[in-house]
Amino acid sequence: MQKPVHTPPPTKEPPRPQRDAPARIDLETPVQFLRGVGPRRSEMLAAHGIRTAGDLLEHLPFRYEDRARFRPLASLRPEEWVLVRVRVASVGGAQGFRQGFSIFEMLVRDGSGAVRVKFFNQPYLRRLYTVGTRLTMFGQVKQDAYSGGALVLANPECEVVEGGDDGGGDGNALHMGRVVPIYRKLGDLRTRALRKVMHEALSHLPPELPDALPAYLARQLRLPPKAKALRAVHFPEVGAAVPDAERKKALAACDAGLSPAHKRFIFEELFQFQVGVRMVREDNRRQVKARRMEITEGVRTTIKKILPFHPTAAQKRVLKEIADDQCSIHPMSRLLQGDVGSGKTIVAAQAAVIAVENGCQAAVMAPTEILAEQHYFFFKRLFAPVGYGIGLLKGSLKAKEKKLARERVQSGETRIVIGTHALVEESVKFRDLGLVVIDEQHRFGVVQRNLLRGKGLHPDVLVMTATPIPRSLALTLYGDLDVSVIDELPPGRKPVATVWLGEKDRAQAFRAMRHTVDAGRQVYVVYPLVEESEKSDLRAAVAMAEHLKNDVFPDCRVGLLHGRMKSAEKEETMRAFAGGDVQILVSTTVIEVGVDVPNATLMVIEHAERFGLAQLHQLRGRVGRGSAASQCVLIGAADGDDIRKRMETMCATNDGFRIAQADLELRGPGELLGTRQSGVPAFKYADIVRDMRALEIARQEADAFFEKLRASTPDADCLRAAAVIRARWQARVAPS
Ligand code: ADP
Ligand code: MG
Repeated sequence: MQKPVHTPPPTKEPPRPQRDAPARIDLETPVQFLRGVGPRRSEMLAAHGIRTAGDLLEHLPFRYEDRARFRPLASLRPEEWVLVRVRVASVGGAQGFRQGFSIFEMLVRDGSGAVRVKFFNQPYLRRLYTVGTRLTMFGQVKQDAYSGGALVLANPECEVVEGGDDGGGDGNALHMGRVVPIYRKLGDLRTRALRKVMHEALSHLPPELPDALPAYLARQLRLPPKAKALRAVHFPEVGAAVPDAERKKALAACDAGLSPAHKRFIFEELFQFQVGVRMVREDNRRQVKARRMEITEGVRTTIKKILPFHPTAAQKRVLKEIADDQCSIHPMSRLLQGDVGSGKTIVAAQAAVIAVENGCQAAVMAPTEILAEQHYFFFKRLFAPVGYGIGLLKGSLKAKEKKLARERVQSGETRIVIGTHALVEESVKFRDLGLVVIDEQHRFGVVQRNLLRGKGLHPDVLVMTATPIPRSLALTLYGDLDVSVIDELPPGRKPVATVWLGEKDRAQAFRAMRHTVDAGRQVYVVYPLVEESEKSDLRAAVAMAEHLKNDVFPDCRVGLLHGRMKSAEKEETMRAFAGGDVQILVSTTVIEVGVDVPNATLMVIEHAERFGLAQLHQLRGRVGRGSAASQCVLIGAADGDDIRKRMETMCATNDGFRIAQADLELRGPGELLGTRQSGVPAFKYADIVRDMRALEIARQEADAFFEKLRASTPDADCLRAAAVIRARWQARVAPS
C-alpha cells in the first residue's frame, strides 16, 4: 500500500530556504534551479541521467489516478478507492496502548453523512487536523472489525483545503481534485514530490517550446501544441464534468500512453528520428573522404590470390556496387542484405582488400565474441598468402593483450581488425581507417555506427544483415543507408532437408547423427537458453553432452559450448569443431549468428518449440554451407497451432524471406526483432511495433518535409524544426 502522506496547511510549513525559482524556465534550465530540487537532489537526478527541466519532464507518469470527483460519504462502499471532501467533526483515538503504537482517530462529515478515519502511528496529526479543519482525502474504504463493520478510511492521503467556505480552494489542489499522475520514484523523490516539481516546472515554461514538429504538420495531423501536450501528459485534462463513458476512455488512453498528448510525443519522436536519419545520410554523402580508393593492379592480384572459390553473379554485382562507392570521393553508407549462407563475408573481405591496397585499414565489427573470433580466424586464413596483419579486439582480452592489440591498430601494423563493440571504445585509435564493416548489424544502431565511423576521416561503411524485416522497420533502422542485395546462394547448395520429431522419436535423431559422423561429417546439437530458466537449460545442455559422450556416441568426440564458459574455452572448442576434432558439438544458442563450419551437415535442435521462426532460420543456416546435402532435425512438442505452424514452415521452406513473412503473420514484427536487440533505437514514447503506422506516416512526412526544406525560400517553421532536430541528433550521436 502507498505510504500515507499529508500536506500540512501552508501556515505551519517550516520556512523554506530562500532560493527563488526563476520566473521563467525553459527545457534547458538545469533541474537544480527548479523549486523543490536543491543541489543534493540535482546530483541524485543526474545519476538518473536527468540534468535539465526537459529531461525531468520526460520522466512520464506510468499511470494515472482519477481523483477528480468527490464522492458523498453516504455513498461509500467497502473496498472502493474514493476521493472525499470533508470537515473534521470530532477527534479521539487511543494512544500508546502498546509500546510504540498509536491510533489517531477522527470523525469527518460532509453534507451527506459521516465516516470514521484512522491513522496509525502518526500522533502529530492530532495537531494538524483539529475540529473544523477542511480536508480532501483519498483512500480505500474498509470495514472496521473493531466496531461492528462500520466503514472506515485507514491512513488516507490527505490535503488541507484552503480558501473559501465553499471548499473550492484550488490553492493546493495538486494531489486531488483532478486526475493525478503517478510516477516511478527517482532516488528519494517519490511520486508526490515529483508531482510537485513537475507542476512547478510546467507552470513556469514559456508557451512556445522547441519543437521537432513543424507547426503545419501538427495542425495537419491535429496534434496539440507541444507545451499544451507536455502539460496534459503530466496532468491530463479530464475534468470532473467529463461524462463517465468518455472519462473511462480518456483515462484508459492515458494509462496506455496513448492520450492525444502522448500521441503528439510519439509522432514527434518518430518524425524526428526519420528526419534525423536522413540528415545523417545527407551529411555523410556530402563529406569528402581522406582518400578515394582505386582498383589497382594490387587489388586485382590480391583478390585473385585469396579467393577460395568463384564468386556468384550476385556477389560480383554487389561487390561492384561497393567498389564504386569506395572509389567515390564521398563515403559509402551501404547495407548488404543477403539470406543466411549467401556469402556476405567474402564480399566484405574483398572490400577490405580494396581499402588495404589503397593504404587504409579496415575494421569489422560483429555482435558476439564467438562471431568476431570466427571472422578473425577466417580472415587470418584467407589473408595468409598475402601477409596482411589481422587483429582481434574483444572485451574479454586481458588488459595486456588488449593494449598490444590497440597499439598495433594505432601503429597501422594491423591492416584489418576484427572485433566486438570493444572496437568503438574511446581508447581504440586507428592510423588510417578507411573501411568499416558491421556484421549482423541488427544489434547495432545508428549511434554505434557513427561512433565507429568517427574513428576514421569519413571512412566507407558497409553494414551486413541476414535478418529480413518489414519494410517500414528496415527504413527506420537503415534509413541512412543505400541497399545491396545478394539474392542467390553459392552453387551446389541444397536446401537443408528439415524434419520435425516428437520427444519420443529421439532415437531417430540419434540414427541420423550416427550416419553423419560415419560419413566424416559433423553435427550441431542446439539447446535453447532463455534467461528465466537459464540454470535448468544449462543443466539440460550439459547433461545431454554427457549422455551423448558416455552412452550414445562413446566412440566420438563430443564438445560443449555455452555462454557461461570462459572465452578461451569457447575459442578452444570452436576451433576444435572448425578443425574437425570435435564431431558433435552440443551448444546453447551462442552459435546462433554467423558461425561457419561447412563440414557440419546435421543440426539437431532440441525444444525447437521454444524458438521463434527467425531464430530457427538463423540456427539452421549453420548447416548446408558446403555442397554436401544437409539436414535439420527439430525436436519439439506439438502443443498449439502456433508451434505447429512454425515447425511446418521450417519443414516447408529454406527461404528467409518467406520465413520472415510467416513469422510476421504469426507473431507480428516484435518476434522478428527479438527482445535483446539494442540496435532498435530506444524511443522514449514510441513503441516501434505498436506504432508501426505512425512510423510509416512519419517517414512520408519526413520526405515531404525535406522537399519543403529544399524549396528556394523554406518556411521559417521548417527551418526552426530542422534546427531543433539537428541539435538533438548531434547530442545523441556525439554524447558529451
Ligand atoms: P553469410 O552471408 O550468412 O554471412 P558466409 O559469408 O558465412 O554467409 O558464407 C557461407 C558459406 O558459403 C561459407 O562457408 C563461405 O565460404 C561459402 N561461400 C560463400 N560464397 C561462396 C561461393 N561463391 N562459392 C562457394 N562457397 C561460397
Ligand atoms: Mg555472416
